[in-house]
Amino acid sequence: MKDYIVVIGGGLAGCEATYQIAKRGINVRLYEMKPQKFSEAHSNKNFAEIVCSNSFKSNLHTNACGLLKEELRMLDSLLIKTADEVSVPAGQALAVDREKFAENITKKIENLDNVEIIRQEVGKKGITLKKLVEDGIVIVATGPLTSENLSKEIIEITGSNGLHFYDAAAPIIEKESIDMNIAFWGDRYSQEREKNEDIESWKKRIKLESEKNYINLPMNKEEYEHFWNELVNADVVELHEFEKREIFEGCMPIEVMAKRGIDTLRYGPLKPVGFTDLRTGRRPYAIVQLRQDNSEGNLWNMVGFQTNLKFGEQKRVFRLIPGLENAEFTKYGVMHRNTFINSPELLDETYNLKKENNIFFAGQITGVEGYVESISSGLISALNAIKLYKSKKENNKNHVSLEKNKVIFPKETMNGALAKYIATPNKNFQPMNANFGILPDLNEKIKDKKLKYQKLADRALIYLKNQIKL
Ligand SMILES: Cc1cc2nc3c(=O)[nH]c(=O)nc-3n(C[C@H](O)[C@H](O)[C@H](O)COP(=O)(O)OP(=O)(O)OC[C@H]3O[C@@H](n4cnc5c(N)ncnc54)[C@H](O)[C@@H]3O)c2cc1C
Repeated sequence: MKDYIVVIGGGLAGCEATYQIAKRGINVRLYEMKPQKFSEAHSNKNFAEIVCSNSFKSNLHTNACGLLKEELRMLDSLLIKTADEVSVPAGQALAVDREKFAENITKKIENLDNVEIIRQEVGKKGITLKKLVEDGIVIVATGPLTSENLSKEIIEITGSNGLHFYDAAAPIIEKESIDMNIAFWGDRYSQEREKNEDIESWKKRIKLESEKNYINLPMNKEEYEHFWNELVNADVVELHEFEKREIFEGCMPIEVMAKRGIDTLRYGPLKPVGFTDLRTGRRPYAIVQLRQDNSEGNLWNMVGFQTNLKFGEQKRVFRLIPGLENAEFTKYGVMHRNTFINSPELLDETYNLKKENNIFFAGQITGVEGYVESISSGLISALNAIKLYKSKKENNKNHVSLEKNKVIFPKETMNGALAKYIATPNKNFQPMNANFGILPDLNEKIKDKKLKYQKLADRALIYLKNQIKL
């Protein structure tokens, strides 16, 4: 076994992981393919390049990403510390001077005595992931635009179902914000009122049988036509050229499908067949279905609603659906190029690959979504890679189990909840950002959203302080 841990990718997650390992006195070998090779979105030779918005989102603790950052500050995150140092005015948000940010991180990493930097792509003859893993522990942090050569190798290791190349995610809604006086439970056909069945016995029957697989939102003709009209005229996000080619071949956004004709959605994802509207006792004109998204049942996914609408437009247009007037969107729909592995099947809560514990994944490739979320996974994977490295050294073996030594963050913290989310079985797994919906509920019911988020944040910080001793 080599006397270092390998980190592949000098992006946000890779730099955080490198720093966390090096500062604890363990050698790191960091591979970065720039400037030999750039992805379609990268152009700066420095590490930790911010490829799009320069915002790390809100600093407020009542914002999920604000809480995640505060936890990372407590954990001595190099990237959040540097972001604070090079921040530019942005109200309550943390926005950075992107050039200074990348430059400062690069200098700090280069100045670490025990870090060896190799500017070379991994995944080619010469340095393959396979060879690196034979020699010791590797953290793969190559991001949403992982090079093709390495992607091929990751598929060989994880299986053909193991890697996805783009996001086509529908919005996710907090259950509490759905109007259940309009919405109803039930599966297609089993919820439907049978011919000659009187209304009262049908209501009794579906209440008794009610299967909680789907929440259904019925629409009448007028409601549907109003919704359709706003949908086809809503503003969409401009895709990058490289994204246009790949995405539309695989999956159609709801607004593109709607533009094919006023009834197309009613024969597709909004098909009303097999349902009876509780309000009228008749088949609705159209129906929107929501599918459970997490095991706690507090997050629900809009079936078939993968979309490119701007976030503000998603809120405006989807709130026109009866029952969703006050919907709280935990996550908006997105469609973009994004390489990510099937984490619920492949990883545990430490970002460790279950079938080969010499490999950790970190960053956007794990299915966490966003700059700060990528940093979080870089930090957690590094802390666990260190534990594994030390056990191997102590036992003088290349393969040892990490079971007893894992650093698992409490699920009440935003860092822990995110790690838990991506490692929890989920047939329809899509990348996830920090949000309060993934934290366990409080013991008390609090109606005021801001107060509730404040209490969740206070609890998270206490758990982090009391339970994680580094
Ligand atoms: C176009 C685009 C826009 C985005 N906009 C935002 C946004 O506005 N806000 C937000 O929060 N998130 C955004 N994201 C998502 C995500 O937060 C960022 O991509 C973030 O940089 C992910 O961090 P990371 O460390 O996982 O990957 P990266 O920061 O991309 O780092 C990966 C590094 O690995 C290197 N690499 C790749 N393959 C290899 C290889 N085989 N060998 C060696 N090195 C390799 C790359 O050159 C890169 O430096 C965006 C993503 C994309 C693709």
